[in-house]
Amino acid sequence: MSEVLNVEEIFGSKVFTLGKMKERLPKGVYREVKKVMEQGGELSKDSADVVAKAMKDWAVENGATHFTHWFQPLTGITAEKHDAFVTHPDEEGRMLLEFSGKELIKGEPDASSFPSGGLRATFEARGYTVWDITSPAFLKEDATGVILCIPTAFCSYTGEALDKKTPLLRSMEAINTQALRIVRLFGNKEATRVTANVGPEQEYFLVDRDKYLQREDLIFAGRTLFGAPAPKGQELEDHYFGTIRERIGAYMKDLNIELWKLGVTAKTQHNEAAPAQHELAPIYETANIAVDHNQLIMETMKKVAARHNLYCLLHEKPFAGVNGSGKHDNWSLTTDNGVNLLDPGKTPNENVQFLLILSCILKAVDTHADLLRQSAADVGNDHRLGGDEAPPAIISVFLGEQLDDVVKQLIETGMADHAIRGGKLLTGVSTLTDIEKDATDRNRTSPFAFTGNKFEFRMVGSKDSVADPNTTLNAIVAEAFCEAADYLEQQDDFDVAVHDLIKKYLTEHQRIIFNGDGYSQEWQEEAARRGLPNIGSMVEASSALTTDKAVALFEKFGIFTKAELISREEILYEIYSKNINIEALTMIDMAKKQYIPAVMKYTGELAQTVLAVKQAGVDATIQTETLQLITEKLAETRKALATLEEATAKAQKMTESKAKAFSYKDDVFTAMEALRKPVDELETMVAKEAWPVPGYAELIFEV
Ligand code: ADP
Ligand code: MG
Repeated sequence: MSEVLNVEEIFGSKVFTLGKMKERLPKGVYREVKKVMEQGGELSKDSADVVAKAMKDWAVENGATHFTHWFQPLTGITAEKHDAFVTHPDEEGRMLLEFSGKELIKGEPDASSFPSGGLRATFEARGYTVWDITSPAFLKEDATGVILCIPTAFCSYTGEALDKKTPLLRSMEAINTQALRIVRLFGNKEATRVTANVGPEQEYFLVDRDKYLQREDLIFAGRTLFGAPAPKGQELEDHYFGTIRERIGAYMKDLNIELWKLGVTAKTQHNEAAPAQHELAPIYETANIAVDHNQLIMETMKKVAARHNLYCLLHEKPFAGVNGSGKHDNWSLTTDNGVNLLDPGKTPNENVQFLLILSCILKAVDTHADLLRQSAADVGNDHRLGGDEAPPAIISVFLGEQLDDVVKQLIETGMADHAIRGGKLLTGVSTLTDIEKDATDRNRTSPFAFTGNKFEFRMVGSKDSVADPNTTLNAIVAEAFCEAADYLEQQDDFDVAVHDLIKKYLTEHQRIIFNGDGYSQEWQEEAARRGLPNIGSMVEASSALTTDKAVALFEKFGIFTKAELISREEILYEIYSKNINIEALTMIDMAKKQYIPAVMKYTGELAQTVLAVKQAGVDATIQTETLQLITEKLAETRKALATLEEATAKAQKMTESKAKAFSYKDDVFTAMEALRKPVDELETMVAKEAWPVPGYAELIFEV
C-alpha cells in the first residue's frame, strides 16, 4: 500500500488563505481586508502593517526567507525579484525579520528590463508593482529556498499598465458594472457583484529530458524545427483517454499534489489526442485568480517534470504533423447571489434575461471578432489554428441544436414558443441506467462554443496567458451590455422593448453563428461570403488592437488608453520578430553544425562503399543512386540555408517594427520551411546511427 494522501490537509497549505487571515488577524483588520477584497478600496496603512506582519510570520514559520512581488509583464510569463526579510541587526548583532505594509503594497522592480512598447524610454525606468489583494499570497519552493509570493499588478510611473493583470482587473470592473445594470432591469436587486468565472483546460507534452537536451531546437525554440514524421502518428487514436503510463502517472500525481498545496483545484487529467500529449483542468474560479493559477499550473508542470527526468513542452506546436496544444478558456458570468447568467434553464425560450445576454454576447463577438482573434494570437498558435486539430482562424459561435432553434424562431416570428429538450439516452441494455441527455451535442471544431452554461473559447494557445482573452471577452461583452442597458433603461414598456431588442441583435448578428464543421473548406468559403474576418497570423491580427472601434471600446471602460494599445501592438511585433529570429538562428546553427556535417560524413562513407563494391567487381548501381540522391538533397539544403541566412540578415537590419515582423513572417518563416523540407527528407534516407539528433519516434513514443 502506498501512503495515504490527505488532500483536505495539503490543499492550500502553501497559501495565505482567507481562513489563515481569519485565524491570525484581529477581527477588525480581517473585516477590513474582506471588505476591500469584495468591494474594492484601500487598506489603511495601519491595517496593511498588521496584514504584512501576519503574512510574514506565517511565511517564516513555513520556512520562507524571502518575499517577492510576483507579476505578469508583457513577456507572457511571470517575473519576480526576491528580497530577504532581513533588516539591520540590532546592536547586539541579532537579526529580526521584518516585512512592512509598505513593502507588501508597493514594490519597485527595474521596469526597463520589461517590454513597454515605447510607453517609456529606458531612462524613465520607474515602474511599480502593486499588491492585488484579491489574489492570495503563496509560498514557492525551489533551489533558492522558500519564497513568499505576493501577486501584484505592474504599472509605469505614470500609471500605464505594463502587465496583463491590470487590464484584466479593469475589465472585470467593467463587466461587473454593466452586467449589474442588466440584472437590475430584470428586477434582481440583491446582487451586488457580477464576476467573470474562468476554467482554463491546459494541454501539454512530456518528453524525456535526456532526449530533449540533445535537441537544440527544443531547448531554444520550445518546438522541433526539423523532424521527419514517425511511422506511426495518432491515427489509431489509441492514446486519447487511454491508460496513463506509469511514468506519466507518477508525474501527474506529483503535479496534482504540488498544485493542491498552492490552492489550485487540479481536477481532471487525461491523455490527449497526440502521443505524449496530456491535459489538466482545474475547477473554474474568478477570472483574476484563474489567470494567476494558470500561470502557476504552467510553472509547476515544468518544475515537476524535471524531478521525473522529463521535460514539459507547452508550445502550441512542438511537432509538425502531430496535434498541437491549446487552452480551452471556459467563461461564464455569475452574480454574488448565485445566478449563472449563462444558464438557460430547461426552457431557454422563456428565459428572457438569458436571451438578452446571449444576444448581447453574439453581438459582441460579431462586432469584435478581430479583437477576440487577436487575443488568442501568439507566435506558436500560428501553427495550430486552422490546422484540422484546432479551430480555424475565423471566429464564429456554436450554439447547438436547442439554442439555434430558439434563435431561429425569434428571428423568423419574433416569438420562441418551444425549446428542444434533451430527453433520455436509451442504451438498449437493461442493466445500464437510461441517463438524461444534454440538449446539445458537442462541436470540437468551433472556436467559441456554448457548452450548456458557459462559453468555451477554444482558440487560445497552450503557452499563452489567459489574461488577454478574458480581458477582451469581458470588455466586448461589457460594451454590448452597456448599449443594451442604455437603451432599455429609457423604455416605458420594458417587455416589448427587450423583446424587440433581442430580435434586432439576433437578426443583425446571426452571421456569427455556425454550427457546422469548422475544419471544412466549405466553411472558409461560407465565412468569406458572410464577411467574417479570417486572420491567418499573429502579425496580421495585431493591428486589431488599435482600430478606432477597439480604441473606443477600451477607452470607454478605462481598460486601455490609446497609448497603451499602441504600445501593446508594438510589443507584439517585437515579440514575433524576436521569436522567429531565434528559430531561424537555431535552424541555421543546427543545419550548419549538425545536419550538414552528419550527412557529409555519411556520404563519405557511402562513397567508400561504392568504391569497395565496385572493386569487388560487383554492380554498385544501388549504392551509387543512393549516394546521388542524398548528395542532391544536401545541395538543396545548402541552397535553402543560404536563402534563410540572407532573409534573416535582411530582417534583422530592419528598424520599423511592423514591417520587420512582416518580413520575419513572409520571408524568414518561408525560408525556414524551405530549409526544413530537404533536411526532413534526408532524415528518411540516412541511417539512423548517422543522424545527429533523436527523431520524432524517439521523442513522442519513448516517454
Ligand atoms: P469538458 O469541457 O472537458 O468536458 P467541463 O466542461 O466539465 O469539461 O469543464 C471544463 C472546464 O470548464 C473546467 O475547468 C470547469 O471547471 C470549467 N467550467 C465548468 N463550468 C463552468 C462555468 N460555469 N464557468 C466557467 N467555467 C466552467
Ligand atoms: Mg472542455
